[in-house]
Amino acid sequence: KTKIIGLTGGIGSGKTTIANYFADLGVPVYIADTEAKKILYFPEVVQQISEVFGEEVLTDNIPDRKKLASVVFKKPEKLEQLNAIIHPRVRQHFTDWTDQHKDEKFVIKEAAILFESGSFKDCDKVILVTAPKETRIKRVMKRDGVSEKEVLERMKNQWSEEKKKKLSDFIIENIDLEVAKNQVNKIYKTIHTL
Ligand code: ATP
Repeated sequence: KTKIIGLTGGIGSGKTTIANYFADLGVPVYIADTEAKKILYFPEVVQQISEVFGEEVLTDNIPDRKKLASVVFKKPEKLEQLNAIIHPRVRQHFTDWTDQHKDEKFVIKEAAILFESGSFKDCDKVILVTAPKETRIKRVMKRDGVSEKEVLERMKNQWSEEKKKKLSDFIIENIDLEVAKNQVNKIYKTIHTL
């Protein structure tokens, strides 16, 4: 059976960067955030979102991620409602995608909220990407052109690194990219022997 390797890490840790290294090695990689974004525009999802959050989160009749984010980041119960709409659909889509890769020894599921959503429970192994908080904040400020306050706001809803480390099988310290790449190569070899 195809093994599912979860790949996660806090905002700005470099999950996507690391996921791309695995993809370069030929591992099929599922980026949950990207798929979730697409699902946001499905007609039945648009309908549900406008019912739950009102027309004010729409721009030209489709959900506006910025508007949605500003609503859910301030109100955890709203975030839960949004997740309840999106997550079951992403889970189903991932299951279908995995079925299409049943000849592979393993696939990677990259998700920012792998732990927070509980989907780590469906993974055979979990890889955590870490970097010091200050570094992560700087990276995101630069990448997204946002203030430190905004990054901290987004981090608030994520689990602490300590809590995540306890539940992870592999940890990639992503500070120096070359060092991180070496860790990817090592983990790649190890998971082949599982
Ligand atoms: P998010 O959760 O916000 O999607 P992420 O964990 O997927 O973030 P990336 O998008 O991979 O993180 O990386 C964040 C930014 O930091 C990117 O601009 C990326 O190019 C840069 N970056 C990643 N790793 C390193 C590194 N080791 N050194 C310097 N910059 C890095």
